[in-house]
Amino acid sequence: MFKYLAGHFSKGLLFVKNNPQIIYTIFLVVFIPIAFIASGQKFLSVAEENQERLEKERVGVMQDIFIELAALKMDDHASLQSIIERLKDQNKESISEFKVVVFEGGQQKVIASLDKGEIGTADEKNMFFYREAGARTDVSKIFPVSLYGERHWNVVRAIPDVETGAVLGVVFIDISMRAIDEVAAQNIKSAYIFLFFVVLAISFLLLRQAKIIDYTVLYRKLKEVDQMKDDFISMAAHELRTPLTVVKGHAEMLAKSSNLKEEDREDVSRITVSINQLNTFIGDMLDVIRLGQGKMSFNRQNIDISPILEDVVGSFAVVARQKGLEILYEKNDIPKVFVDAEKLRQVLVNIIGNSIKYTPQGSVKVFAEVSREMVFIRVRDTGIGISAEDQQKLFGKFFRVKSKETEDINGSGLGLWIVVQIVSNMDGKISVESIKGKGTDFILSFPVAR
Ligand code: ADP
Repeated sequence: MFKYLAGHFSKGLLFVKNNPQIIYTIFLVVFIPIAFIASGQKFLSVAEENQERLEKERVGVMQDIFIELAALKMDDHASLQSIIERLKDQNKESISEFKVVVFEGGQQKVIASLDKGEIGTADEKNMFFYREAGARTDVSKIFPVSLYGERHWNVVRAIPDVETGAVLGVVFIDISMRAIDEVAAQNIKSAYIFLFFVVLAISFLLLRQAKIIDYTVLYRKLKEVDQMKDDFISMAAHELRTPLTVVKGHAEMLAKSSNLKEEDREDVSRITVSINQLNTFIGDMLDVIRLGQGKMSFNRQNIDISPILEDVVGSFAVVARQKGLEILYEKNDIPKVFVDAEKLRQVLVNIIGNSIKYTPQGSVKVFAEVSREMVFIRVRDTGIGISAEDQQKLFGKFFRVKSKETEDINGSGLGLWIVVQIVSNMDGKISVESIKGKGTDFILSFPVAR
């Protein structure tokens, strides 16, 4: 039994550890209603105390005034009777008994009362209160009592002689607290109704919260699956590279062989082109994963980009010539920028490579310029161009323009996405200006190195 409970307890702890949001839920369920009830109770008791204090003061003042009058009219019973009846009229709700008692020969006698039948009697049942009141003449004494479940105050006060101070009699008032208690009960009822709605609102929030917990668990699972997918792609890419390098080596050896027939030479060249495409694709996939996981490292330095531009443009000279395109770099004096030289080279290879890929005739020109502390590198081609609509989506993952001009051109749509990530990691920007059918400018910009 103990083992069973302990097992469940540790499972619960583990669940809380894995889903810390549950603490928030428990907090909402338990703490907020308790806090609400506690503060409500506190507020009500303060309100009740205040109400009772005011009531005591009111009764005190009423008795003060009454005994001043009564002391002068102790012999005029009819006047006393009419005063207490008038006071009853003004305080119908709270006064339930009001009488004046005098002591005659050690025996008390009622001389005025709301209950006329009592007049002339000794009112034995309240003897205790009359005795208590006689002891002091300066303050009213309040005795809380309960009558049929209703709170009452029996308030007594001695009536002193104006001159001698001798006790002439006692005034007795029974105050019903029903009105005050009813107001308090009404307040408590409203507070509980309000609390009910608060708990309802919290429960609603909790239901949503439960969904959030579901989503978090789902999100974590998705991340795990995503990680597994990335790991698989990385592993597959690396595994593909090794045999590809071997095939590429053999193809290059074959291409150099003098025994190769002219018609086979073309096949070998196709093999090399396909292997290069595959290698680029594998490299792109690995970059996408590295960038997605923030694992691509950047070794940034203040560098002069001119030699890099010259070198990359030069490396495309043969391909451009084979396509009948003019390619040139208009050299210019430009300040250094703070970038990773190898990553900048990768970006340029991608953009200039695209320009050659998507330009059937004409030229690809590269130039750099400085303006307002920024270095701009512009790659301008006279190729197929990109419509304004496609320009909007150009830098998205896997985006490729689908048109007659592009249908025979291979690509994955990853190149520009990788370029954007690399460029922004080096505090740079990339933009495009293009007219469909006329050509495209890709513009890279980096802040001038300090
Ligand atoms: P891809 O592997 O398809 O070349 P990229 O991400 O490098 O992928 O480019 C995305 C798309 O942008 C390309 O498929 C092509 O339609 C368009 N594009 C890129 N560069 C140019 C260019 N210089 N001229 C016209 N279209 C281009």
